[in-house]
Amino acid sequence: MRDRRHHHHGGTRTLGRHTRAGRRILARAAAACGSVQIRNMATLGGNLANGSPAADTATPLLALDAEVVLVDAGDWRKLPLTEFYSVLKRPRR
Ligand SMILES: Cc1cc2nc3c(=O)[nH]c(=O)nc-3n(C[C@H](O)[C@H](O)[C@H](O)COP(=O)(O)OP(=O)(O)OC[C@H]3O[C@@H](n4cnc5c(N)ncnc54)[C@H](O)[C@@H]3O)c2cc1C
Repeated sequence: MRDRRHHHHGGTRTLGRHTRAGRRILARAAAACGSVQIRNMATLGGNLANGSPAADTATPLLALDAEVVLVDAGDWRKLPLTEFYSVLKRPRR
């Protein structure tokens, strides 16, 4: 969804691509992740689903009240990122 208040950030987009597109706060966070090599391979979805409290992209997205869309065998649901991170190192599936 994309309107004045909502932006969609694809989970399979690499952190490198996020540094060049999208909301500035997320671009700056993605640019802080690891090295160029890491950013060229790592994705936003992987950075979040990795479940680390130190994930650089989690903080700005939490501040923006982001939601994640979880897809499972054709079924999907939205979840506030705050609930996705309810258990350390074990994000919801
Ligand atoms: C040398 C090094 C330096 C690093 N430095 C930083 C840093 O400075 N800051 C930082 O935040 N992180 C850092 N990391 C961590 C790294 O950014 C994350 O591990 C990376 O973002 C994971 O992305 P990935 O696409 O490779 O995910 P993967 O490693 O492939 O997957 C991680 C987990 O997420 C799941 N997953 C992946 N994509 C999705 C998806 N679309 N939907 C649901 N589940 C998914 C996988 O099944 C797996 O459980 C570093 C890692 C390394 C090796």
